Amino acid sequence: MIAKPSLCLLIPALASSLFLNAAFAVDTDDLIPRESEPYAEDLLQRVRAAAASIPGARATAINFAKVAESHRTYAAVIEGGSDEPFVSARTAFQVEFPDGTVMLDSGMDEAVHRFYGFGREEPYWPEINDTVQEALRAARLILVTHEHGDHVAGVLRSGYRDELAPKTILTKDQVRSLNIAPQLPEITLTPADARNYIVVDYEDVLPVAPGIVLIKSPGHTHGHQMIYVTLASGSEYLFIGDIGWSLDNITGLKLRPAATIARVKEDPQALMHQMTWIKQVMDDDGLIVVPSHDDVLLTRYVADGLLGDELR
Ligand SMILES: [Zn+2]
Repeated sequence: MIAKPSLCLLIPALASSLFLNAAFAVDTDDLIPRESEPYAEDLLQRVRAAAASIPGARATAINFAKVAESHRTYAAVIEGGSDEPFVSARTAFQVEFPDGTVMLDSGMDEAVHRFYGFGREEPYWPEINDTVQEALRAARLILVTHEHGDHVAGVLRSGYRDELAPKTILTKDQVRSLNIAPQLPEITLTPADARNYIVVDYEDVLPVAPGIVLIKSPGHTHGHQMIYVTLASGSEYLFIGDIGWSLDNITGLKLRPAATIARVKEDPQALMHQMTWIKQVMDDDGLIVVPSHDDVLLTRYVADGLLGDELR
């Protein structure tokens, strides 16, 4: 049997190197637009393995603070929703370890809050945002689900920004959005400022602390990610940011209304793949799913002892 000659041998050296470079570029590009593909069957298994990859004691509790509310209707939040009121809680979460804390999202100042009121006055509690600022200062690490103002402004616009930036992880996709297409001008991040942060890029999962894993989920924004947290008790939480504003988006596999999808410039197909996976790990594997803004659900989680409603 004659061995098949390698491609390189068939092509003159110079052409070969050009060809291979081009082929390589095409291959890597193909890896990037994965957002419209369903998540792989083994994703949860890989997330759990990643969660166990960083040695150290696991977290024991998770708390959150609500710094503001936006008053919407279910019709604005979910396809085919009613005109019943939907309270959007503006939140930041704190993961408590025996030897420190990790913050998930960062709250926001009142000026950024006003952006979400579309001209209306809506509840904002500056003293609670102050407790978030103190919790950010005390935290060992700060993670953000995505680059919208209500999640990231508490770091970007903080009076303590220089102190917070070196322990805040931003992804390259988040930095890029904040630079070239920020949700509002107040949260623009220049490339020079971005150098103060821990800027990372990863393919699909990235462990960042014992039991904590980032899961790439572009769709609501380019830099959106979920955050998986497993506690010492074995409970597993999945912080889904804004993939769905209400848990009803997930349980009913319903997107936001078309007008909202267009306004936010979302990728509906990517969101549907993400919601399908989230529903599956919630129903089949018992993960506790935490959307950032579902006030009714967060209140229930507090009553059930799954979340604390005060930062430590
Ligand atoms: Zn949000």
